Amino acid sequence: MPYSAVSLFVLPHTRGSSHGQTRIIRKAYQQDFYTHMMEECYELWAQLEREAGVKLYRQTGLLVMGPEESQGYQMIKNTLQKNKVPIEILNRDNFSQHIPNVNLALGDGAMVDITAGVLYADRALKTVQRQFEKLGGVIRDNEQVTDVKPGPVVTVTTSAGVYRAKSVVVTAGPWANRLLAHTGLQLPLTVVKINVCYWKEKVPGSYNVKQRFPCFLLTEFEETKDIYGLPSNEYPGLMKICYHGGSETNPDQRDKTTNRSDIDILQRCVACCFPGLVPEPAVVESCLYTLTPDHHFVLDCHPSHSNIVFGAGFSGHGFKFGPIIGKLLCELVLGEVPSYDLSPFRIRRFQDKTKSAL
Ligand SMILES: Cc1cc2nc3c(=O)[nH]c(=O)nc-3n(C[C@H](O)[C@H](O)[C@H](O)COP(=O)(O)OP(=O)(O)OC[C@H]3O[C@@H](n4cnc5c(N)ncnc54)[C@H](O)[C@@H]3O)c2cc1C
Repeated sequence: MPYSAVSLFVLPHTRGSSHGQTRIIRKAYQQDFYTHMMEECYELWAQLEREAGVKLYRQTGLLVMGPEESQGYQMIKNTLQKNKVPIEILNRDNFSQHIPNVNLALGDGAMVDITAGVLYADRALKTVQRQFEKLGGVIRDNEQVTDVKPGPVVTVTTSAGVYRAKSVVVTAGPWANRLLAHTGLQLPLTVVKINVCYWKEKVPGSYNVKQRFPCFLLTEFEETKDIYGLPSNEYPGLMKICYHGGSETNPDQRDKTTNRSDIDILQRCVACCFPGLVPEPAVVESCLYTLTPDHHFVLDCHPSHSNIVFGAGFSGHGFKFGPIIGKLLCELVLGEVPSYDLSPFRIRRFQDKTKSAL
């Protein structure tokens, strides 16, 4: 039987977590294990670009700003330095020469993760799907999985038929727990709605990718969560800036959630740090994060059925890891030793928070 991938919606769709034109790719992380994985991940994205003859990555650098003495900022700096990732540390005197149109807050440090950049997300999904089909895989969209029956042969029932397979990989994003419920497992996942905000440049082009304006990560603003952004590129004259959090929602009724308190924070941040942007979003779109309690991914085998493997809870930062996540899930299915230590991603870390009826 060929490898099959089933998607609930007609592809491409905007109902989950992977839509939109751009995502940030970076090695700047607080934890070494992500930075280590990203080394290989950059190579895998480049390999995909070569094989498909498509450009998926544009280097822009990632400007990291945050209170210089804070734990979050220092951990990222240490990880980058320890792993010899090329960075440039900026100081107050040379900051505006390197990064025009941004105000560095008093007490904030700034550094640039030089190899970071933008991944063309929509294009990347299309490319992966095309390569999968080229290799003999079959994609069935607009087909809902309605049951997963564990056993030595797993039986997957969908709105269109029944499949039997030696192994099954579940990567259902915000709907992960709905599918895993059929196997008696529930993960501690929270689905939140993200307001994806685009901000108008007062002078067109001043934050443009062509002017080499970088992506950015603000590790703290008003002592709240991260704020991140990408240079204007996908919509002419608009820069994407988002708050790394949102309100809990039901993925089937996402737009019923109308909380805009994150947008208030973003407006204050834009007014304070980005004087060249109109501090009111010109466009607001929606996307979903599926959060774990520690914001680390879940990559594991089912505790009672080792031929059911799952990847879930990508907590708003999983896109860039796509190729390596695919490789690791494949190793789990084949019973091979995973290429990386998976202990940060195993479900046993949740212990009392994981409900298994089996
Ligand atoms: C606003 C925003 C910005 C982000 N920025 C970044 C970034 O800069 N860098 C980065 O690395 N990451 C980023 N992320 C995170 C990244 O996009 C996600 O981690 C990633 O897209 C998660 O993919 P997924 O496959 O788990 O979920 P999804 O893309 O939602 O896919 C789940 C799939 O499961 C299918 N499905 C569900 N239930 C069923 C069923 N019953 N039957 C059949 N199919 C089913 C759905 O059709 C869907 O296609 C961002 C996310 C958002 C929302």
